[in-house]
Amino acid sequence: MDATARVWTLVDEKRSLFEALSDRVWETPELAYGEYRSCLEHRKMLDAQGFRITEEAAGIPTALVGEAGAGGPVIAFLGEYDALPGLSQAAGVAEPRPLPGDGYGHGCGHNMLGSAALLAATAMKDYLESQGVPGRVRYYGCPAEEGGAAKTFMVRAGLFDDVDIAISWHPASFTRVDEALSLANTRLDFHFEGRAAHAAAAPHLGRSALDAVELMNVGVNYMREHMPSSARIHYAMLDAGGIAPNVVQASAKVRYAIRARDLAGMRALIERVEKIAQGAALMTETRVASKVVSAVSNLLGNTPLERAMQHCLERLGGVPFDEEDYDFAAQIQATLTATDIDNDHARVGLAPWPRALHDGVVALDARGEPMIGSTDLGDVSWAVPTVQARIATHAIGTPGHSWQITAQGQAGAAHKGLVHAAKAMVATGLAALLDPSLIEAAKEDHAARLARTPYASPLPAELKPPIQPRPAE
Ligand SMILES: [Zn+2]
Repeated sequence: MDATARVWTLVDEKRSLFEALSDRVWETPELAYGEYRSCLEHRKMLDAQGFRITEEAAGIPTALVGEAGAGGPVIAFLGEYDALPGLSQAAGVAEPRPLPGDGYGHGCGHNMLGSAALLAATAMKDYLESQGVPGRVRYYGCPAEEGGAAKTFMVRAGLFDDVDIAISWHPASFTRVDEALSLANTRLDFHFEGRAAHAAAAPHLGRSALDAVELMNVGVNYMREHMPSSARIHYAMLDAGGIAPNVVQASAKVRYAIRARDLAGMRALIERVEKIAQGAALMTETRVASKVVSAVSNLLGNTPLERAMQHCLERLGGVPFDEEDYDFAAQIQATLTATDIDNDHARVGLAPWPRALHDGVVALDARGEPMIGSTDLGDVSWAVPTVQARIATHAIGTPGHSWQITAQGQAGAAHKGLVHAAKAMVATGLAALLDPSLIEAAKEDHAARLARTPYASPLPAELKPPIQPRPAE
């Protein structure tokens, strides 16, 4: 048995523990920076598996790091465990059925994400111990991926400074190496202040902050024609100034998300949006202040690591789903439109797959029409050579951040997918551990990319993570 086969056996020996961990985290969905129970589940597992644990990593109560081994290179596996609002859903049913409670749900599959990364780290730890090989493995429990940019704060705190390579994954509808395309993204709030007045008796004395927000949004909407087509801008009204139409709104707040292909492009767009906000304030005789809430960088690829991971995926093959998995996925697909399903195939550049679950491996050079989001893994990829897998865990066509993802989060396909992800990750990490030339090549590739564009954290120096209080027991 070679080293890869051995480490896959180690994954299989413990798979049921980690399927159960994923299910427990699914049962207790928590939002960004409030993942106290989910983090505790990961802490207990790290403890049970014999890792050395650092709690409150980067000063964040729901972030932690587990380490094992000694000497040699440092291989990091990154997990997440935050959920989303409005995506509560019963497991295993193919119709919208929210559960009673706060409405939170694992609509992005991070219950699987964290568990599989911790399984990969555990298998590597077990391998290092059984073989007496030098090397350190780390599990990073990363909170608040959804809009909280926790990894960007963790990078800023220097948590990755001595890491040689970082490996992660994301649940998906197709199995492949991640294309390393994501948008740099800054969220910032614009707070306008005017002057209240009786809207009928003294309108000339009032200055409306709500008018300013509306004019700002109109201005930004006109700007869209004149910005790069890959950039994205969205806004949400956080405070419209009250519900009384007969009072001139003295205060109003709008949150913007400004995304671009890289940090330079994002900074240029932020400057233009700031000018529009100033213009709206000038027009309405109000004052405006802006404040960055979170920021992440675009993902940086790493060709040697992507090739190494593809090699592991091809040896591993597709996820071994069974008939029950295909049946449930087909029921989920019945809730989707043909366009949902076609779009998903187009994104990875594949002809329609014959079954409801992707049980193959997408070629490394397949090029589709990706629709690109943002992730705080971006900042890790600027700090250290990083690679990410996408592993099939749900029906082809399943939209991101949907009740359908929550519904599939405890299914057989989710369990098989997360075990597969652990195998893909640990095999890639092992390839680096056993072949120092791979780490060297990954670092050279990384250095060459940074030489073209040096990294500067997109976070303002004074910005701290918006930590949520620990819930009462
Ligand atoms: Zn996600």
